[in-house]
Amino acid sequence: MNRIVELRSDTFTLPTASMRAAMAAAEVGDDVWDEDPTIHRLQERAAEMVGKAASLFVPSGTMGNLCALLSHTQPGQEVILEVDSHIFQNEVAGASVVGGLQLRPLDTPDGRLQPEQVRHAIRPSDIHEPATGLLCLENTHNRKGGTCLSPKQTAALSDIARAGGFPVHLDGARVFNAAVAQGVDVKDLTGPVDSVMFCLSKGLSAPVGSMLAGSQDFIERARRMRKLLGGGMRQAGVLAAAGLCALDEMVDRLAEDHANARRLAEGLQGLPGVDIDLSRVETNMVFGDCRPPLTAAAFIDRCRAAGVLLDQAAPDRWRMVTHRGVSVEDVDHAVEAVRRLFGAPAAASLRVAG
Ligand SMILES: *Cc1c(COP(=O)(O)O)cnc(C)c1O
Repeated sequence: MNRIVELRSDTFTLPTASMRAAMAAAEVGDDVWDEDPTIHRLQERAAEMVGKAASLFVPSGTMGNLCALLSHTQPGQEVILEVDSHIFQNEVAGASVVGGLQLRPLDTPDGRLQPEQVRHAIRPSDIHEPATGLLCLENTHNRKGGTCLSPKQTAALSDIARAGGFPVHLDGARVFNAAVAQGVDVKDLTGPVDSVMFCLSKGLSAPVGSMLAGSQDFIERARRMRKLLGGGMRQAGVLAAAGLCALDEMVDRLAEDHANARRLAEGLQGLPGVDIDLSRVETNMVFGDCRPPLTAAAFIDRCRAAGVLLDQAAPDRWRMVTHRGVSVEDVDHAVEAVRRLFGAPAAASLRVAG
């Protein structure tokens, strides 16, 4: 009865036994001097997986995105992105503070920018206007539900940027979730863009770190930017060792998290005062909208008392995220606990057949 189901984020995943063993045994060196052999292995492996010439290990996704923005642009340029993107909403305005960039947010219903919409946002060459310097995509799109861009959509958006003469950066914090959910090679999602950042520390379960990948030139500039931001680490091969396990052992299992998210969303259908849009559940996230007088804060508090932890996304929205630390039994336990809390009958999907 004291089970805690951790649905706040996939960042709560703990390192596996094989990660801890690899960390203890890692061969290391000074990575600021570019002499850490484990970091080298991770960077080569990551670049190869996403089909880029080179990659860079960074302490966080936020720093990876900022290194990308700084390496692609000049101060005073404008960056086109989605209004609910992590870079616009959750990175402390680093692009503006550090990069001197102006952000141009575009709204979408589901996180998927439309090529026409991007085309219209490109600045003409006019002495009064900032120049468009970069397009940022996000796949999966976190705040809009963990929704995916397809290879075709990614390519169409990248074509618009190419025609406009500026590069594309993909915030692919969960790009492996997008690849697994769509049954495509991750290269099909990263091939069309100039650079991609992805997190090792979310569903892939590594304790720390993200990767930034792109051309050799781009990664050389990004390496300098990482130093500028204070992200030059020394014997960080102990962290990279866990990252290698993440890439080798943790990608395919993301399918389990997606199945669990769907089971969770279906199980929670019909709660009084809560709407869950099943059509948005494409990967490992479930969002619920509370109708007044129920607020997301009240919903979250009541769930917490029942041992189910979740995150607030907006005043009337909450988010549940599935990951390696949440089993199918945990999902069923959470569904039953929350339904009991709200006096809802048992979920049809969980009733024993017959
Ligand atoms: C988590 C996340 C990031 C940032 O990663 P941190 O390691 O938390 O800095 C960037 N983009 C998206 C979409 C994310 O979900």
